[in-house]
Amino acid sequence: MGRANKVGGDLVLDFGSSGNSASDPLPKICNLPGVKELCEIIYGFANNHLPVEDLDGDGFSGTEKNLRGTYWRGKDCDPKDSKVHPGAKPIDGDREMDSNCNGIYGVNPTTNVPYETELCGNYTPIGTLVLGDSASAHFHVPPEFMDATKIGNHTYKNIMSIVENEFDWPMLSANTAFFDSTADFPEINGPVNSSYEITRGRNLCAHRDYQNLGVNGARVGAMNTTIQQGLSRSQADHPLLVMYALIGNDVCNGHPDTFAHMTSATEYRASVLATLEYLESRVPKDSHVLMMGLADGRVLWEGLHNRSHPIGMGVTYEALYDYLNCLEISPCRGWMNNNETIRNMTTDHAELLSSVLSDIASTQSYSNFKMHYFENPLKSALQKFVAQGGQIWEMIEPVDGFHPNQRANAAMVDVIWEMLESEVPDFIPTVNPNNAKIKSLFGAQGGY
Ligand code: CA
Repeated sequence: MGRANKVGGDLVLDFGSSGNSASDPLPKICNLPGVKELCEIIYGFANNHLPVEDLDGDGFSGTEKNLRGTYWRGKDCDPKDSKVHPGAKPIDGDREMDSNCNGIYGVNPTTNVPYETELCGNYTPIGTLVLGDSASAHFHVPPEFMDATKIGNHTYKNIMSIVENEFDWPMLSANTAFFDSTADFPEINGPVNSSYEITRGRNLCAHRDYQNLGVNGARVGAMNTTIQQGLSRSQADHPLLVMYALIGNDVCNGHPDTFAHMTSATEYRASVLATLEYLESRVPKDSHVLMMGLADGRVLWEGLHNRSHPIGMGVTYEALYDYLNCLEISPCRGWMNNNETIRNMTTDHAELLSSVLSDIASTQSYSNFKMHYFENPLKSALQKFVAQGGQIWEMIEPVDGFHPNQRANAAMVDVIWEMLESEVPDFIPTVNPNNAKIKSLFGAQGGY
C-alpha cells in the first residue's frame, strides 16, 4: 500500500508524530505490539486517499460510504461512466441524464429548455474541497471506547466502519458535513454545520459537490503527494472553494528534540508553493483558495491539564501528556507539555509558519484561483464560546485531548463565514434564486 506516500509525519492515534525514518514513516507508537496494523489503516489505508470502490475510476464512489467513499466525497450517480460525477459540467444540458449528480436533469416541457440551463445556467455552482489533516477530516475516538464503566454490548457495534474511515468523521466535519445532525451516529453528538452545507444552501446546483482530502498526520510536505494522488477535479468541471487547512502537524511531533523535527519556514514555503502550482494545473478558472493559519495549541494545556481523562483512574491530562512524552509518542510534545517555555516556543514557530502562508497569499498570484489567508478560526470560536459561559474543554476531543470536537467544528464554520463576509465577500457563492423551484421539482435531489 505504499504507506511512505501516505504518512505526513505527525499524528495521533492520529497517535503521535513523525515517523521513525523515511523508510519507516509510521510514528513510534505503531511499534507497540498489536498496533501496527491499526496504524497502517489510520495513516493511509484507503487507496491513496481515493475511494476503494470506484468502478469507472473517476474518483467517486457509487454505493460505498466508508473507505474514502461517499462520506468523503459526493456520490457517483453513474458508477459505470467516468464522465458522470459530482462537479462535472452538464453534458448536453443534462437533457437525458444527470451528468453531475446534483439531481437536476431533464427538459422543461413548457419552455423546451433543459432544467440545468434554466435553473443553474446563470448561477455557476461551486464545489467544496478541503486539503487538510486530522482536524479537517474530523478525527474522533468515542470516549466510551476508553471508559471501562461505559463499555456495553453495543459499544463497539460500528467499530469496523469507524476504522474504515480512519477514525475520521468527514460527513460531520466543518468542511464537508452533509448530515443535518449527529442523530445517525451513536458515537458522536453535537451541532453540525459545514462550508459545503452553506455553499450548497446558497446554490442547490452544487448538491453533492464536496471532497475531503483530510489525512491524519498530514504536513504541508505530504499534502503535495496526497493532492496528486487523491484530487478528483479537472479544468472542465465547475470551480472550487478550496480550504487549505494544515493546522498543526508541521509543529507537532513526539520527539524529545521536538523543535528539530518541526517543518522549517523554508521547507514550509516550498511545499505550499508546490501544492499551489499543482492546484493551478488542476482547478477550473474562477476557483478560490482559503489558506488557514496554524492553530495555537496552548489552549489545550490551558483548558485540560488539570482535568480527568476518560480513561479514568484519576488520570489527568497533565499526567497523560507526561506519559506520552516519556514514551516519545505524544501527538504534540510542544503543546502537550507542562513546560510553559516549550509551549510558547511551539506557538512562536506556528506563528512563523502562518506568516509564511499569509505572505504567500498576499504576494503570489495564479490565473485559475484567488487566494486569501485567514487566522485559524479555533481561537475565535473558543473566545466566543467562553464569553457565552462555556469552557475550553467542552470544545476539545476528550480522548486525544488535541482535536476540535463536534461543537468546535460547527462553531468554526460560523467564524469562517463571518470572516468571508467581512474580508472577501467575493469568495462567497451567489445565492441562486431558483433554489425553491429546484426543491419543488427535484425534492432531495437524490440524497447522498
Ligand atoms: Ca445535473
